[in-house]
Amino acid sequence: MRKPTGILGGTFDPIHFGHLRMAQELSDALNLSEVRFIPAGYPPHRNQPATSAAHRATMVSLAIADNTTFSLDDRELKRSGSSYTIDTLQSLRDELGQDAAICLLLGSDAFVRFNTWHRWDEILDICHIALVERPATKPKEALPQVLQTLLHDHYTENTADLASSSAGFIIMQKITALDISATRIRESLQHNLSPRYLMPDSVINYIRVQLLYR
Ligand code: ATP
Repeated sequence: MRKPTGILGGTFDPIHFGHLRMAQELSDALNLSEVRFIPAGYPPHRNQPATSAAHRATMVSLAIADNTTFSLDDRELKRSGSSYTIDTLQSLRDELGQDAAICLLLGSDAFVRFNTWHRWDEILDICHIALVERPATKPKEALPQVLQTLLHDHYTENTADLASSSAGFIIMQKITALDISATRIRESLQHNLSPRYLMPDSVINYIRVQLLYR
């Protein structure tokens, strides 16, 4: 089996050190061959992004420019209409082949609502899931019973399981907790407060030059 490919989807509106550190620590801990950052076009589960897909993708590429393990994958931006994670994963599976291990990287805030995703109960047929605890921005939501069962049925603590099969395991990984959110960064920018030390300077400069989030 090959090293797993990590997939980090998000709106990245804008990308910040919470995303980057999560990707780095999971890449190291799970021995990933690469992490693909996949900006969402029109996410079905949340408010529409404040910023165009092109800007969000450019900010991702600026943020990951010096990391050879990270790449920008713009397949969701090229697709018209809603982009469902299951479709993205299926297209990655088609590209990488049946033997490749694929690992979807998710924060705990995203996993709590996983059972509302389109065809959520088929996602583990296509990939593994690596979960990280994210510092709670809102009061913690309880994990629905169906997800507790899913976790119980697919749970592993063994990193090697991710490489020995192409899909089907859920692993939980402890990472450095960074209480950074794109929502708060957007609010800071609207109030003319500096987002320095929350995100790469290259992204901050881009936001300034392009007059984003005003
Ligand atoms: P917003 O505030 O606009 O909702 P966000 O900061 O949550 O944005 P997303 O692009 O929605 O960022 O997040 C993409 C993925 O990254 C999700 O799986 C999310 O859980 C994870 N993530 C985002 N920020 C962090 C963080 N600070 N620590 C760990 N995981 C994070």
